[in-house]
Amino acid sequence: MDVDDSLRTFPMPGREKQERPYACCPRDGEPLISTLEFSGAEFVCVVCGQTYGYLAPTAKPATPEREARHGELKERYDAERAERQIREGRA
Ligand SMILES: [Zn+2]
Repeated sequence: MDVDDSLRTFPMPGREKQERPYACCPRDGEPLISTLEFSGAEFVCVVCGQTYGYLAPTAKPATPEREARHGELKERYDAERAERQIREGRA
């Protein structure tokens, strides 16, 4: 994989969100959701269900469209996670 070193930093919550590249799914290019659920799976693609470690995702520039899509996927992730916790009796 040929990733420029300058793109290896991914956005952290609330810090220079606009200027930093988004971590995206190498399979379908969708913005990934950061999760602290599993070690070695810091990112998850809500679309294809694949999880990625910190350096595995493809970095793509932040755009308003990508930011909106990320927000949409994050909502989906949070909803699915809440459902899963209810099913497992953890809520
Ligand atoms: Zn994906």
